[in-house]
Amino acid sequence: MTELAADSIVRIVDAVRSALPAAAQKAALHEPFFGGNEWSYVKSCLDEGWVSSVGAFVDRFERDIAQVTGARRAIATVNGTAALHLSLVLHGVVAGDEVLLPSLTFVATANAVAHQQAVPHFCDIDTTTLSLDADKLGAWLDRIVVRREGQCWNRNTGRRIAAVIAVHIFGHPADVARVQQVCDRFGLALIEDAAESLGAYRDGKHTGTTGHCATLSFNGNKIVTTGGGGMIITSDEALAERAKHLSTTAKLPHRWAFEHDAIGYNYRMPNLNAALGCAQLEQLPVFLARKRLLAERYAAALAPVAGVQFMAEPPGSRSNHWLNTLLLDEALGPSRDLLLAALHDAGIAARPAWQLMHLLPMYAACPRMDLPVSESYAQRIVNLPSGVALCPPAPSVAP
Ligand SMILES: *Cc1c(COP(=O)(O)O)cnc(C)c1O
Repeated sequence: MTELAADSIVRIVDAVRSALPAAAQKAALHEPFFGGNEWSYVKSCLDEGWVSSVGAFVDRFERDIAQVTGARRAIATVNGTAALHLSLVLHGVVAGDEVLLPSLTFVATANAVAHQQAVPHFCDIDTTTLSLDADKLGAWLDRIVVRREGQCWNRNTGRRIAAVIAVHIFGHPADVARVQQVCDRFGLALIEDAAESLGAYRDGKHTGTTGHCATLSFNGNKIVTTGGGGMIITSDEALAERAKHLSTTAKLPHRWAFEHDAIGYNYRMPNLNAALGCAQLEQLPVFLARKRLLAERYAAALAPVAGVQFMAEPPGSRSNHWLNTLLLDEALGPSRDLLLAALHDAGIAARPAWQLMHLLPMYAACPRMDLPVSESYAQRIVNLPSGVALCPPAPSVAP
């Protein structure tokens, strides 16, 4: 390591430390924060005996999420991966199809495609959103698509291209309006993976409300948690009804008979988890305000430090600042792991970006476009501790 790199690492660690509360000896990456009605809502499930997949909190949590996002319907699921898998089922993705998605994402996005025996097809990201690059997607489809019987086929692999999944990375909205235009040009369904972006908006629209449907996650590390949980949001009533039916074993409603009209899934969110979710969602405005303040602190602390950039809100967007992110300059890229070690030594549980999907053994042979931005950025991204407990207290927020 050069002296310059060693010096930069010291300065970056100091800057990150200075943005965090002095009292926090250890800063985890993203811990859940329970500051509201969590205990009382969960207790009421136990008191009343409604712990499983039917109960008032499930219905309420769905209504609340629909209201927050502006989607007409919301269907709660056991986790975000199940929500993604079910979305693919609902869009007619079948074994042997290809589904386009970014290589820079959490593995669940690609796994959901594989769970349907379909093939993930990896696309590059743009530098302002770290999400799908709409221009590259359009140019790539122009090159590889052959149209037959109103459908798109990959001329290189002979497989049908069935859908596109756009992922909103780290709580920054993707440019889905432009991705949607590309999808429209090719007649492809757009599913938004909004697992990380509850409370994030682009051009005044909540993430997940541009595509035909979107999925959320309420895993323990997300901005709002149900312990484990997910959601499909959509404004297509028929799709919503089908999602609810298939996620509840496709059981036909009847007072006592058990009959099912399709191969369904046991993907419904339990009431216990939804109770936690309702209490968490009441605090979303406060969480968002506090996370914005922490992002501002990181941005200000890192601004004077050479060799590093803080990932800013993309233009026209209101990010939820789920996971704060810094980007090392190319010269410092090779020193990333030394920075991670120095941050961990200082009690700061920073993390690199996920391994890119096309570099994982099970997806290495999947089709992909050239991925220069993904490959360059994945080497240089460092995610910083971002949990609500580490954020400055909120100025008063209107509920
Ligand atoms: C968390 C996450 C998921 C999956 O959510 P689970 O609830 O953990 O199954 C999917 N995609 C992205 C981008 C995520 O961050």
